[in-house]
Amino acid sequence: DVLMKLDRITKTYHMGEITVNALRETSLDVFQGEILVILGPSGSGKSTLLNIMGGMDLPTTGEMFFLGENLSRAGDKRLTGYRRNEIGFVFQFYNLIPDLTGRENVELAADLVDEPLKVQEVLAEVGLAERMEHFPSQMSGGEQQRVSIARAAVKNPRLLLCDEPTGALDYQTGKLILALLVKINRERGSTVVIVTHNTPIGDMAHRVVRMRDGTITEIRENAAPLPPE
Ligand code: ADP
Ligand code: ADP
Repeated sequence: DVLMKLDRITKTYHMGEITVNALRETSLDVFQGEILVILGPSGSGKSTLLNIMGGMDLPTTGEMFFLGENLSRAGDKRLTGYRRNEIGFVFQFYNLIPDLTGRENVELAADLVDEPLKVQEVLAEVGLAERMEHFPSQMSGGEQQRVSIARAAVKNPRLLLCDEPTGALDYQTGKLILALLVKINRERGSTVVIVTHNTPIGDMAHRVVRMRDGTITEIRENAAPLPPE
């Protein structure tokens, strides 16, 4: 089943005399329950596409449907509700609130949504039960990324959007973080979209999309996605 349909999306930025076509007529279906990895060099439009999927940004032209609803025509109020209740975001640099502990960062997210999961359970699930009273500055990068995954997962989002989730981590820590995303996908059924320029991450996906110069150049299906061991 299709969770999200992107239909001929374009995104154009104007900076004085310069026009940047960040996306050019890009179409893509995202299927419910899949792990989709979007690969491509820096500047190919991956983050722009992810931001549009997450309702953080609107396309210049083209349409986006979420479970059949045309969100490219939705108002601010609907988009805020969509971002809060349906989408979890995981960023390269975690974006945690520094004055709040790990637990408080996750609680804050839970408080905003209609049907959150139990904070305590989600923190245990990401392996942070012992560190949750610490502040982000007292945690390693991998631990901070666990908090940020817990913050996204506690919303029980239909769609988990990850922008270079391992980009600031060493190889081993990155593998643990990817394994956690696979676990959430399997156990909670969340659809997971990961943007990266790290090609091997494609091995864990059900499908791999390649982007170049603002368009999708290839979509590959993985017969046997490999979970990071
Ligand atoms: P990627 O995530 O693949 O590195 P981006 O989606 O960040 O690519 O960027 C695609 C293109 O759009 C790049 O040329 C980038 O400089 C440009 N771009 C992205 N965001 C903006 C913005 N807010 N204003 C102007 N140009 C932007
Ligand atoms: P990443 O690939 O790690 O997401 P980027 O450099 O592509 O990092 O983008 C980081 C942020 O900066 C994004 O939100 C993007 O929209 C914005 N951005 C990228 N390029 C530009 C640009 N030329 N002008 C303004 N904002 C940009």
